[in-house]
Parts: sequence; structure tokens; C-alpha cells
Amino acid sequence: MPVPVQPVVSDDALPASVDVAVIGAGMAGSAAAYFLAEKGHSVALIEKGIVGGEQTSRNWGWCRQQHRDLRELPLAMKSLEIWGDLNRELGTETGFRRTGLVYVTNRPADFAQWEEWTLKAREHQMHSRVLTPEEAKAMTPGSTGEWIGGVHSPNDGRAEPALAGPALADAARENGATIHQNCAVRGLDIQAGKVTGVITERGRVRSRAVLCAGGAWSSLFCRRHGVRLPQAGVRSTSFFTKAAPLITEGGLSLPNVTLRRRLDGGYTVGLSGRGLVEMSPQGLLYARDFWPTLKKRWTGVTLGVGRSFFDGPESFAHWAFDRVSPFERHRTLDPGADPKLVHQGLTKLAEHYPALKGVEVAHCWGGLIDSTPDGIPVISAVESLPGLYLSTGFTGHGFGIGPGAGRLAADIVAGDPPIVDPRPFRYSRMVDGTDLGAPGML
Ligand SMILES: Cc1cc2nc3c(=O)[nH]c(=O)nc-3n(C[C@H](O)[C@H](O)[C@H](O)COP(=O)(O)OP(=O)(O)OC[C@H]3O[C@@H](n4cnc5c(N)ncnc54)[C@H](O)[C@@H]3O)c2cc1C
Repeated sequence: MPVPVQPVVSDDALPASVDVAVIGAGMAGSAAAYFLAEKGHSVALIEKGIVGGEQTSRNWGWCRQQHRDLRELPLAMKSLEIWGDLNRELGTETGFRRTGLVYVTNRPADFAQWEEWTLKAREHQMHSRVLTPEEAKAMTPGSTGEWIGGVHSPNDGRAEPALAGPALADAARENGATIHQNCAVRGLDIQAGKVTGVITERGRVRSRAVLCAGGAWSSLFCRRHGVRLPQAGVRSTSFFTKAAPLITEGGLSLPNVTLRRRLDGGYTVGLSGRGLVEMSPQGLLYARDFWPTLKKRWTGVTLGVGRSFFDGPESFAHWAFDRVSPFERHRTLDPGADPKLVHQGLTKLAEHYPALKGVEVAHCWGGLIDSTPDGIPVISAVESLPGLYLSTGFTGHGFGIGPGAGRLAADIVAGDPPIVDPRPFRYSRMVDGTDLGAPGML
């Protein structure tokens, strides 16, 4: 079921021409539109469904530096800086609170990995503390677990996914951007080898630059124009509870289950390591790129064949720009929750915290996480197609790093000095034979 999202007002008419057309109003597109408009560029933010309707409203709401791939850590650290000021800067509630995040475990392999990561992260001045068994226990009062240790990242926090994406889109609009919902971009307008705008279901918009922030749809969109972008979708189930006793003010990762306190006093609950990867034509096309990841990291992932083989973002589709495109046939991708996983989540919660026994589910949903082979996003120009830029492939991390990613994408599109070194996120790594390897900690 779609997650209820804070509604955003659309503009009536599409502009004939803008500096930048942004495709997709999730976290990546909305944040980029906000920062581009703040820099004084004219922006049209174009969304096939509603602002924040896909991954951006379906995530757990963890805003973390902890356990980030080290290539991504500087961007995560900038993002947490931006989050800290965002409620004030936007003049509205994103739900962000710097509550800290806690991870505890009884698995030696997890703990060893966390210790190693924390040592390396210190080189980036990232403040994270390894917890002894006693400290881990003290940070989880009321839990039944006997932990061998944990980690605590006090500068991390949590925000409300249903509020934050729409808040950034609204702020972009206040800065002069226009917003167009229920308006799919069918393709790029390309003249003499350069992108000169977008072709939407409601007509053309000329632009100097196009930023594709299409989440799980970016690969399909790019493929239509001969641009190679390996992406794979991992389907995940989550739910939130009605108001429940206070266990944590922030986010807490327990073996097999995570919980994050919500503004409404409930918890958003996720099942870690329980993703489903459906075999799809796109999956087969990029199987070689993802093979190291599948071998090393996706131990908890189930493989299956489902509807995505024939339909949706990972199918093979070809469409004419004057006809209905796959983007209009799926205004909001809504994969549905797996009831077995919801039940398992509730059981695990009650096992770890007897005080949460009998807590009621208020809403459950599925989401499709768009992943790259090396687990970090592409935020970059596409050199082979001047005028096209990408901000996509966030691999399950794009909410927390959304503000920084939006700022970096805006810097790159505007040609301004980038907020962090953009090289780890360059598009060219997808096509120049770089050994993408497997991601760091997911
Ligand atoms: C279950 C789950 C839990 C997660 N937990 C966390 C977490 O705790 N912390 C964290 O940091 N991240 C988390 N993530 C990841 C995070 O939600 C995503 O990385 C982030 O929201 C990606 O934002 P996006 O804008 O790239 O994509 P999306 O939010 O998916 O937005 C893409 C948008 O583009 C639109 N679009 C696509 N094609 C077109 C087109 N042709 N024309 C017009 N519009 C188009 C789509 O309709 C969509 O609205 C989680 C994800 C899931 C699914």
C-alpha cells in the first residue's frame, strides 16, 4: 500500500524553457531542484506520479554516517551537517532529530566488521564509538539480548520520509522552481548529439541541462537513449506501528530487525537482510556487473521470478515519445508488503523487547531499492551525451545522504565547485572498464 505522503501543490502549465529539467521528485530530484533554484537557476521538477511517492516515502528514515561505504562517507557527513539546519532553513518540519543511532549484535562477524569500520572512519573525523557488551546492554534497557558489543554514532539521526522529500520540493518551489506531478518524461530531446530538453506526456520543455533522478526507473530511461546504467532492484518490506512504549529516541539495529522512533510515537520497522531480487531482463543484462555483489554481500537476498520479468522498471521496453510510455503505466511503483515478513518483524520485536509485545501495525508497504554494482550512487555528468546528468543508484542510502547528494548534483550541473570530491560518483566508472567490485557494508 502506498505510504501516506505530505501532498505538494503542482504548477498548472509546463514552462516552455528552463535552465534545468529535473526528472523525478524523490529525495534526489527534490533536493537537487531546491539547491539549483537557490543558486538562481530556473528549474522544472517533473514527476510521473506524486512527489516522494516511491522510495523516498517508503524508507526507514535513518540519516546515518555510521557504516557508510568510505567512498561515500564525506557526502554522508556533509548531509548530516545540512540535515542539522534543514528544519530552520526550510521553515518546516522534516522530522529530523539528531538522536544518534545504536547497533547491537550477538554475531562476532558483524562486530569485527563494525570495529574495523570505526577505526577507518576516524581518519575522516567521523565520531562513532564501539560499545563493550556492558555498554551495549546499558544502551538497550528492557531488551532481552545478550550483546557481544555494538556501535553508537551520536551525530547521526532520523527524519520522517513522508515529510522530508515534500518539504524540499515545496522549498524548491518557494525558490522559483515549478513542480509538475502526474507528468511522465517520456524521453530526452536530443539535437546534434546534445540534450536540449525533455519530452513529457504534456509536451516539450527546452533546457540547457537535464538531471535524471528517476530512482529505480533511471536505467530503463537511460537505455532508451543508448546510455548504459547497470541497476538492480531489491524488494523490501517495512511497516510502522501505532504509538508504543519508548525503547529508543533514534534508530536501533538489532539482529534481523531495525526500529526507528517516529514523530507520532510509533516505530518504523525494517527487516534487515531480507530483500527479494526478482529475475528480470535488466537483471540478466547486467548480471556480470552484479555478480561480485551477489557472491559477497547478498546472503540474505532471495532470488525469484515475478511480474518484473514482464513489466515495470526492469523489463525490456521500447516506446515512441508520442505514445504512452512505461512511466505513465506505473505512476507510483507499489510492490506491496510481504505479510510473512511483517509477522516475522513483529515476532522479533517482541522477542527482543517484551514491552513491545502486542504492538499494532498501523501500515505496511513494499519498496524497490535501486542498487548499483559497487553500492554507491552515480552523481555525475554523462560525458557521452552532453547536457545529461544523473543522480541515482542510491542503493538503500539515498534518504540520509539526500541533502548532500542534492547539493552535489546542483554543484555539478551548475558548474560550481563541488561540496565534496565527486570522483567516487562519476558515471564513467559504469562504462570505462573500472573494476566495480562489491560494495562496502550495506
Ligand atoms: C524499504 C526501504 C528502506 C530504506 N531505508 C533507508 C534509510 O533508512 N536511510 C536511507 O538513507 N535510505 C533508505 N532507503 C533508500 C532511500 O529511500 C532511497 O535511496 C532514496 O529515497 C532514493 O531517492 P531517489 O529520489 O533516488 O528515488 P525515488 O524516491 O524512488 O524517486 C524517483 C522518482 O522518479 C520518478 N520517475 C521515474 N522515472 C520518471 C520519468 N520518466 N518521468 C517522471 N518521473 C519519473 C518516480 O516516480 C519517483 O518518484 C530505503 C529504501 C527502501 C525502499
